[in-house]
Amino acid sequence: TTPTEADLIGKQEVLPIYKPRDKFSHKGNFGHAVIIGGSYGKIGAVNLASRGALSSGAGLITTYTPKCGYIPLQSNFPEAMVLTDDEETFISNMNIGFEASAIGIGVGMGTHKKTVSALEAFLKQNKLPLVVDADGLNCISKNKDLISLLPENTVLTPHPKELERLIGNWDDDFDKLSKVKAFSAKHKIIVVLKGANTITVMGDKLYVNTTGNPGLATAGTGDVLTGVITGLIAQGYDPLAASVFGVYLHGKAADIAVEDFGYQSLIASHVIEALGQAYIDLF
Ligand code: AMP
Ligand code: MG
Repeated sequence: TTPTEADLIGKQEVLPIYKPRDKFSHKGNFGHAVIIGGSYGKIGAVNLASRGALSSGAGLITTYTPKCGYIPLQSNFPEAMVLTDDEETFISNMNIGFEASAIGIGVGMGTHKKTVSALEAFLKQNKLPLVVDADGLNCISKNKDLISLLPENTVLTPHPKELERLIGNWDDDFDKLSKVKAFSAKHKIIVVLKGANTITVMGDKLYVNTTGNPGLATAGTGDVLTGVITGLIAQGYDPLAASVFGVYLHGKAADIAVEDFGYQSLIASHVIEALGQAYIDLF
């Protein structure tokens, strides 16, 4: 077996990726991120992802969600524009009707049969950069033909259970990594393996993150990461850079927030609120 090539990702590694803002920039320079997801009782997931996207620096954010998400999103996140599906409680089509800069799909979305079909119809015509997480991944696991419809450089962000549904089980960490590398190479996609020391995989290359802490082991933190990566792609980072930098920023924000809240009390909203300090820490 060949040794695995892996880069450890800390501040020195992300500094060259980081794009500073020009004095004369305006929101049109930073792209329009879209988050598609949510279902009855899980509108909070799209709220967290959408706030994560905007706080990562995207210029505009639109959230596409079932009708039941309209009032909570408009009330609790005034910066977002909201588009609603024809259905009240789940997503039945994904016609967003404009050219987004990047689209994050799946948080809180559920895996209703009509949602899986909607995802298939969407993927058959979509050419925009995608991040797929959570129930977006679970929908793909229900219909594995969808994998081949993912555009090149799509970012998948599975936690271990979602990964297992997608690629089957593995013997040990070595076997897991070799299976994910093969999956990534075959479909030309980026896989962000979430956990302590999240690993971003692109073909044979591995990027091992060094930020983050067990305070992140709490509801909704993965949804925030989906938003951050989507927001970074929207503002012009290529999908691999967005994945590596996004995982770093998200972990760094958690490391900063844990100083105030401790491991037990840290919640996903605190991670969003600390993203600014994670950026400021770069200097
Ligand atoms: P999810 O399971 O989708 O909510 O995602 C959880 C997020 O928290 C991912 O970004 C994980 O990498 C992160 N996370 C969970 N547990 C830990 C841990 N023990 N240490 C560091 N990060 C963690
Ligand atoms: Mg998740």
